[in-house]
Parts: sequence; structure tokens; C-alpha cells
Amino acid sequence: MRYDKVIKGGRVVSSTGTTRADVAITQERIAAIGLDLEGAEVIDATGKLVLPGAIDVHNHFQLPFCGTVSADDFFTGTRAAAMGGVTTICDFAIQSKPNPIMAAVEARRAEADGKVVVDYGLHAGITDWNKDRAAELPALFEAGVTTFKMFMIYRSEGWQSNDGALYSALRETAKLGGHIGVHAENDDLITLFQKEAEEQGLTGCYTHALTRPTVTETEAVSRAIQLCEAACGRLYVVHMSTGRSADILKEARARGVDVHAETCPQYLLLDDELFKREDGHHFGTCPPIRKPADQETLWARLADGTLEVLATDTCTFNSQQKAMWQGDYRKIPFGMPGVETMLPLAYSEGVRRGRFDLGRLIELVCEAPAKLFGMWPRKGTISVGSDADILVFDPDHQITISADKLATNCDYSPFDGMTVIGWPLTTLVRGKVVMRDRQFVGEAGWGRYIKRDPPVQH
Ligand SMILES: [Zn+2]
Repeated sequence: MRYDKVIKGGRVVSSTGTTRADVAITQERIAAIGLDLEGAEVIDATGKLVLPGAIDVHNHFQLPFCGTVSADDFFTGTRAAAMGGVTTICDFAIQSKPNPIMAAVEARRAEADGKVVVDYGLHAGITDWNKDRAAELPALFEAGVTTFKMFMIYRSEGWQSNDGALYSALRETAKLGGHIGVHAENDDLITLFQKEAEEQGLTGCYTHALTRPTVTETEAVSRAIQLCEAACGRLYVVHMSTGRSADILKEARARGVDVHAETCPQYLLLDDELFKREDGHHFGTCPPIRKPADQETLWARLADGTLEVLATDTCTFNSQQKAMWQGDYRKIPFGMPGVETMLPLAYSEGVRRGRFDLGRLIELVCEAPAKLFGMWPRKGTISVGSDADILVFDPDHQITISADKLATNCDYSPFDGMTVIGWPLTTLVRGKVVMRDRQFVGEAGWGRYIKRDPPVQH
């Protein structure tokens, strides 16, 4: 038997272990895993790790936000994904009320389809929950949109959901097996602290941290969890940033609440002292980067299984866009690039430093996102019959991160100057090589929209 392609001589990794094996591909799928497989094309992986392509479930490409549009579009953003070993991304179709959610999904697909290099799914952002929105759910599930996002903040953008809407949406989506993702921050508290800062004449970058203390997240996380519990819903907390939130999550999971959460590399590796730098506004995100003690707890909760997903909340604004802040923290376009550096940072800082093992990394960036977002076992695993989304990863390649080495459409990286050991070498998306030996060889439009199932129950 001669297969189309064989990845030879590497160590194939899953959450349960590492095996020396070749991986054979026929067309777009994994056809065999074993020894001495033969292929028309051979990709040498001797001395390398062969991983399932990573999944980053939280990206905002070409998003109109904060008076500008995020700088990575669906091409440059998914090119960066491919270069970072990410073979599936999820973005968001945010409802423009009072129009239907489906209109946003269709518009987003029109923007993405011809441009994406890797596969993608869409969550729907719900901005006015009511009977009409509930009536749309079956059609959305049919279209592969099974996970939703609601915002507990952003009142002024018209995106905020009140508690009644959140409760009702949790109850109705769970009936179909879907979940509600929440951006959990307390708008009233932030508004109060911002007003107090204004009275004191504070506008600098560090004021962003001062006006969003821990309670502005933990109160919202705990409220969302209680609403979820009472509504028998399924909840997913996006970009969890504080250690206390992760502890609240741990308690909730221990009593059986169907709640899950992600954190992001910026909350694990960057602290709010960075806001005091000249370029501090580059690090402005919502929620803000936190304290070293938060980082420690988040790492521990990733390792112990409480936090199940690592994602990036990529929303790239370049230094020119960031300059729009002009000294006022309230005008910083909130977001940063990240999809390209997620996996190497998690490997180098997580696995190499012994914070968790390689199997846990695969759970965090491949298996759990595939299961929680309805793509398992098509995505997130090297198994016969799964999509041939594969990353050949060089565990010894050392790189000091700098923007000029990255494919993202941004002139800085929040992780500039950090040295990591371990970097993606070759990436395949459904059997097609999109990065070979660290050179981008992908093509716009190869990526495909993934109709997702409801999340796997667990
Ligand atoms: Zn986001």
C-alpha cells in the first residue's frame, strides 16, 4: 500500500502518550498509523514530535472594534495560525441588532471563505436575546453554529446582555446541547472605578489595571456560574484572567456545574507592570493582564484540569492603531496578536518548565477544544479517519520572539524578546502542507468552514 503522503520517523503525541510511528495520509484524512509506511511523498520527522494541529477557539480577525478594524484579516490571521501550528480557528459572527444572528453568520462567512488558509468555525455573538433569537437556534445549529457568546460588558457598544437574557439564553441553548460563552466583567463596577479615576485626573495606561481590579471579573464569573447552575445551562468562560476566578470555577465544577473555561498566554506570561512602559498601551486588552500571583494560580489550574482550554483572544492592533489612545487608557484599541505564538509558548513555558506534561498540552490545545466545540474526533487527534491536520514540531529549535520573525500583520509581539525552545516546523491542513520547514506555502481559500456539532457532553 502506497499512501499519498507519509510523515516518517517522528514521535506521535496524544494526551495518553507518545509513540514512535509513521502517519499516512490519503487525500484529506489520516489513513494509517504504524511502522514502515510508504508514501508518494515523504515528510521526514526524525527527531521531531508529530502533534495534532492545534485549535484556537478564540480569534477576532478583521473585526470592527474600538473605532478601527483589527489588523489581521482572515488571510494574514490564518497564515499566522498555520505558521504557529494552529490548523483550526474559531472566530465570531457578532449579531448586529436588531438583525438576525444568521445574517451575521452569513456575512462573516462571505468575509472568510475565500481568504482562510486553515479551517475555521464560527461562534455567534448574541447582542439582543429575545423570542426571535431563540427561534433562530435550530437553524443556527443546522448551520454548524452550536456555541454562542454574550457580553456582560460593552454596554456602550450595544453588546451587553443583562442577567435575564443570559439566564434565558443558557436555558434555551442547553436544550439543544449548545453552550453560552461569556465575557465576564462587571460593567457597573468598571464604570464606577473609571469615574473615580477621572475625578483624580488619572488617564495613563496603568489606569486600565486600576479600574479593572480582580472583583470586576470574579463577581461576573461567579454570577454567570450561578445563573448557569439555576438554568441547567452549559457555560464557557472566555479569557479567564484571575487566579480567584479559576478557584471559583474549580468549586463550581466540583459541585457538578456544567461550566468550562479557557485562559490565554497573555494572562499566564505578562503582568500589569508592563502598563508602566512607554509602549504599555500595546498590552491593553479586556480583561487586562494581571499580577504574578494570578499567573501562578492559572498555571496550576491548567495543570489540575480546572481550566480546560488554552486559546488566544487574538485581536491584532498594530502600533499605529494602538497610538490612537493618545495618552487616554479608555481609547486604547483592546487586543493583541497571539495565535502564532500560543503553541510554542505553551510548550516552552508549560512543558519544558515542568508546569504540565506534553499529554496535558495536547488536551489543552487539541483534544478539549475539539470536544467542547463539537469537532471531535474529526479534529484534535491523530487517529485513522480524522482530518489530516498535523503539526511536525521541532522540540529543540530555539527562537527569541520578535515581530519580524512572525507572519502576523503586526509590527510588535506582546512576547517580544522572550526566548522559547520548541517551534513548529511543518503544518498540514487536511493533508495539504501549508507551512514547510518554517516557510509559508499555504493558499487563501484552502481552509474550509467547519459545521460544528454540539459540544461533547462530559
Ligand atoms: Zn474575544
